[in-house]
Amino acid sequence: MKAAVLRDKKFVIENVPKPLLDEYGEGAIVKVTGCGLCGSDIVKIRTGKAKDGDVLGHEVVGEIVEINSKTEFESGDKVVMGHHVPCFSCTYCWNGNFSMCRHFKETNIIPGGFAQYIYVSEEHLRNTVFHVNLSLSDTEASFMEPLGCCIRAVKRAKIKDNSKNLIIGLGTVGILMGETVKAFGNSVYGCDLLYDRVCLSEKYGFDKSFVLKDEQSTLSEMKKTAPLGFDNVFLTAGASSSLDFAVKAARDGASIVVFSSVKDDMKGFCNNEIYYRELNIIGSYSPSPMDLEDSIALLEERKVKTEGLLTEYPIEGLNDAVNDTLSNKIMKAYIKL
Ligand SMILES: [Zn+2]
Ligand SMILES: [Zn+2]
Repeated sequence: MKAAVLRDKKFVIENVPKPLLDEYGEGAIVKVTGCGLCGSDIVKIRTGKAKDGDVLGHEVVGEIVEINSKTEFESGDKVVMGHHVPCFSCTYCWNGNFSMCRHFKETNIIPGGFAQYIYVSEEHLRNTVFHVNLSLSDTEASFMEPLGCCIRAVKRAKIKDNSKNLIIGLGTVGILMGETVKAFGNSVYGCDLLYDRVCLSEKYGFDKSFVLKDEQSTLSEMKKTAPLGFDNVFLTAGASSSLDFAVKAARDGASIVVFSSVKDDMKGFCNNEIYYRELNIIGSYSPSPMDLEDSIALLEERKVKTEGLLTEYPIEGLNDAVNDTLSNKIMKAYIKL
């Protein structure tokens, strides 16, 4: 079968062995119809976390073509999935930190979503695979996993009613995060360096968004909306300068949700700001099976809209998709198989 294999930080289309259900016994073979390109895929390539020979891609939509399972799934079912499964019985899981569970980190779809076929295990089928309602298109359904990540972040912030929430960074994840905050019934504001993205966010239901020009004028502009500062600030920008800005935009006692990695990690939050201003710094990484379940429901109920966010590429165009994402030419790529 065809797969995009990582070779020297680039995708190369290769003919690789199709996963065989017989090798695994239980589980299913899914024919991939499409797979979203995640920002984390690009980070993994650039940081060297992804190695030569790896097949990336985890925002998969596909159809079960072969199955041996005790679950209700059948051959022919259209499905979406989360790629990691927690054990539900370790210290991390007991404390709700499902994405820290060691079993979660070890489990995956095989070989990865940028391939014609993948193997999903029985425990995936039991916990992180979902039927796609026929009312959802493949591209809409492919948002199940990234939206699940946003839902987790919003839940972890424990947003109170009538709160003012700021999303820093209005890429696809920022837009989804804002829509999630809205879907939970709260007001949402955005800010980004790019004017186009600020306009776009308002089309997706943001109450107001700000162009980040110089820090001081943006902050004083924001004061008109949130005189004390924002109650919750979500960081999706992946730039270390935005950490400092988040602290300034937050009100005393606010929560700051960290939702992206940054290149120069040492420029972190300052101790005294956190202490004297009683700030809550909350990390949110990857979704739990419950978040995925909520995500598919939000998509089906059309509480989050995704049209216009994706640009389709054939699998042969994956390297272009990466470049176009990095140069902000597109919002997000969807690889059609
Ligand atoms: Zn993802
Ligand atoms: Zn666990």
